[in-house]
Amino acid sequence: MTDRVTDVLIAGAGPVGLALAIDLGLRSVPCIVVEQHDRVGLNPRAKLTNVRSRELLRRWGIADELRRASPLPPDYPANIVFATRLNGYTLARFEDAFYCARARNDLYSEPGQWVPQYTLEEVLRQRAARLPGVEIRFDCRLERIAQDSEGVSAEIKDVKTGARGTLRAKYLVGADGARSTVRALLGIDMQGDGALAPNLNMVFRAPALAGLHDKGPAVMYWMVNRDLPAYFGPLDRDGLWFLIAPRLPGGVDPGSLDARDVVYRSSGLRFDMDIVHVDPWTAHRLIAERYGAGRVFLAGDACHLHPPSGGHGMNMGIADAADLGWKLAATLQGWGGPHLLGTYQIERKPLHQRVIREAVENYELVGDRLARDRIEEPGAEGARVRTEVGEIILKGKLHEFRSLGVVLGGRYRDSPAIIPDGTRPPREQVTDYEPSAYPGCLAPHFWMQDGTSLYDHFGPGFTLLAGQEAPTAEISRLQRTAAQRTVPLEVVTLADSRFPALYQARFALVRPDQHVAWRGDRLPQDALDLIDRARGSVAA
Ligand SMILES: Cc1cc2nc3c(=O)[nH]c(=O)nc-3n(C[C@H](O)[C@H](O)[C@H](O)COP(=O)(O)OP(=O)(O)OC[C@H]3O[C@@H](n4cnc5c(N)ncnc54)[C@H](O)[C@@H]3O)c2cc1C
Repeated sequence: MTDRVTDVLIAGAGPVGLALAIDLGLRSVPCIVVEQHDRVGLNPRAKLTNVRSRELLRRWGIADELRRASPLPPDYPANIVFATRLNGYTLARFEDAFYCARARNDLYSEPGQWVPQYTLEEVLRQRAARLPGVEIRFDCRLERIAQDSEGVSAEIKDVKTGARGTLRAKYLVGADGARSTVRALLGIDMQGDGALAPNLNMVFRAPALAGLHDKGPAVMYWMVNRDLPAYFGPLDRDGLWFLIAPRLPGGVDPGSLDARDVVYRSSGLRFDMDIVHVDPWTAHRLIAERYGAGRVFLAGDACHLHPPSGGHGMNMGIADAADLGWKLAATLQGWGGPHLLGTYQIERKPLHQRVIREAVENYELVGDRLARDRIEEPGAEGARVRTEVGEIILKGKLHEFRSLGVVLGGRYRDSPAIIPDGTRPPREQVTDYEPSAYPGCLAPHFWMQDGTSLYDHFGPGFTLLAGQEAPTAEISRLQRTAAQRTVPLEVVTLADSRFPALYQARFALVRPDQHVAWRGDRLPQDALDLIDRARGSVAA
């Protein structure tokens, strides 16, 4: 392996490393991704690519590609059914979980999608591979790092041949998952509660199963019984299914369970099946003490770990990539201020802490936490128990399946790159999402008259949204100021009356990651100060 120099070295070609490579590649930043395995998509873990991730995929030009790659039919309903067993009593239903229905909604530019993580990873890999300047090297494990004031040197081992070489980069990002080598090499601890509970994830093929029950099409069937509570759902139209047995009782080794027996007992049905994959995993509540050191950063599972309840883990990691991507590009290209990269942890960590709280709360109500004695009993007493549990499910699981306030309502607080406007911040929301252009929030979205998304008009750098009556002299002044600092700035003038109503201002300065940096009716006298703060020139 020859020594090579690049701008950004990424350890790990999981969804986060690949997303970062795409974001950097689209910003003309050369990068190399090293992945210890020989391909992407090894573990069939996440199923939900949420609304926010799909908005980012739209920006990266692959939202439609992922939709087309879906192994489930395009209009397969994202319903969730709770029943005692597949041949038992129905307890509750959620329709259109995770906002996956394709009907247009003004609140977002893309619906969520129920799609296996391995399909998403392959779509991301193909997009990254098409970008000049992005290189993905499989069978390469990062083993050691050393950094100095100019960059990072990483020792890489070719796991097939055993050959070693060095890659030199200006920055290194550890997107290398829960057991992050980069995090370990930096000596950064994870804080919180490790090992909340053991869980079993498996994939099996059972073409007959869809026709053996009367619960209707759904993406998840939650089996609520005392015997073996679990949830499962179809992964494609050819009979491939996943099953998760969560929160197994203490002392149970998920790897020792008989996979077939788990499927039979939880579903209550017997059918032909092949076990394709068995993946025991442990739920954690952990967050990295720091998100990097010097020229090295951590993203995704490498710095935050929580139960998958609510489908946030990978999606948070993809948003980390979008945050880090523009900040690395701006710094490397000379228009980012000296403190811009320092805002990565300041902005992302509090959001992660909030999502971890939500996910852990959701995880409280899984496994045997929902089942009650006599829940499968025929007759009046059984019916009473089922009604009671059904009500608990409808109330208690709503946060898990419909959390748009968490997915889109994340606000960057206390960041020196966000310029407060003296108004009251919006309240924190979970199921509801009321868009707000309060600085730090995601830019409120709406569909334009011509059918395009407002976001489609944003530039790759900063975007100044200006109401129709915004004085052109002020716009020109900001353009000149941005040019002075070589900050890329696009101006979008909006005649639509929804703009001032939603944004509560005549101007909004939107960052490359679609978050509002500043809003106001007039540009500040000192436009240079505004641009400098937004580009990270001011320390925290
Ligand atoms: C059962 C289950 C269901 C889930 N469902 C969801 C869901 O619906 N939605 C959701 O958002 N999240 C979900 N998650 C979480 C999601 O799977 C993870 O958050 C996601 O995989 C993290 O992505 P990542 O890229 O950070 O890390 P990973 O996916 O772990 O990728 C890291 C990559 O780095 C490579 N690597 C590691 N060390 C090195 C090294 N030294 N050198 C080179 N390469 C290295 C690894 O081989 C791997 O390919 C689920 C998790 C589980 C367990």
